[in-house]
Amino acid sequence: MSQKSRKIIPDEFIPEIRSRVITIDNQDYLLQNDAMYTFYERSMGELSPFFLAIKNERKILGCKCSKCGLVRVPPMMTHCPDCEFAPTKLVEVGQAGKMNSTPPITYFATSLFLDKAPFGRGRVILEGADTALSVMLYTTTGILVPGLIKKGTQVKVIFRDERVGQISDIYCVPASELTPEQVARKGLLESEINWAAPKEPKFPKPTDKDMANFKQSIKEMQTLAVKMSQSKRARKAIEGWKRNIAVKTKAGEFAMYIDNGDFKIEEKKLASPDFIMACEDPKTLLDGLMYKGAITDSVIMKKLWISKNLEFNTIFKLDRLARFLVMEQKERKAK
Ligand SMILES: [Zn+2]
Repeated sequence: MSQKSRKIIPDEFIPEIRSRVITIDNQDYLLQNDAMYTFYERSMGELSPFFLAIKNERKILGCKCSKCGLVRVPPMMTHCPDCEFAPTKLVEVGQAGKMNSTPPITYFATSLFLDKAPFGRGRVILEGADTALSVMLYTTTGILVPGLIKKGTQVKVIFRDERVGQISDIYCVPASELTPEQVARKGLLESEINWAAPKEPKFPKPTDKDMANFKQSIKEMQTLAVKMSQSKRARKAIEGWKRNIAVKTKAGEFAMYIDNGDFKIEEKKLASPDFIMACEDPKTLLDGLMYKGAITDSVIMKKLWISKNLEFNTIFKLDRLARFLVMEQKERKAK
């Protein structure tokens, strides 16, 4: 995605010209979408060198006290409060370091961070620094799940290819997922990392019982998919979304198609899917689609693996698909 075409307010957040009627005490009132604009330019002030170094030089700067030698990252002090305000000077610090706490993971982000979730939020002490820098955390192995990055985990700073001079221009991944050469190199770019080879889980050989379970689960999912495609409400959950997903299980593989409201399951191997889901037992997915427990939870609990971090968004939509169908069925019953 090019920065040039990006807007401060993404298109999807700009409301359409629309009106609606609400009724209060039997009286109708007309509501209309309208707009009020406020934009502002923000100065990074004394932190400008820090953000400029990230943007232009792919360097991380700290400030070092001329008296006690403490290195603070980011360089938020021009004078050290511990040394009667002795001046500090800007110094470059390392780009690998150690987590000083176990990062919580954000799966359900606010709209502002939706295109970045799931991500970890943690604090890293970089080599040569004495204080911790807040960073976002990712993994190259698929989706970020608990246990991958803990207190003490060695991580490496990665620079986004397109940088604007914000803290989100950088993030960290576990150093163990990179080559020693990559860990040692400064200014490592996102595009220089292999994101295309996440580690797919391996399953044991299926038994006859597993095979029968696979066939039965697919059948049930197909029946459910037909109902979903016919449900006005369920269609809404996957409106405007298109994904061909390869689902791998212990006893076989099948394809799941999401196509602007249509939902279909086929016992077929996809040659070039948009992404891969893997779960030992297809029932994990079947239960999710039947609204017996969320599919997002299965991902978080490591029962279901997905090959691309950002496809968590699709998993979220599948949960809504299941929920919306149940809601419509309940409404129909109530009538
Ligand atoms: Zn000092």
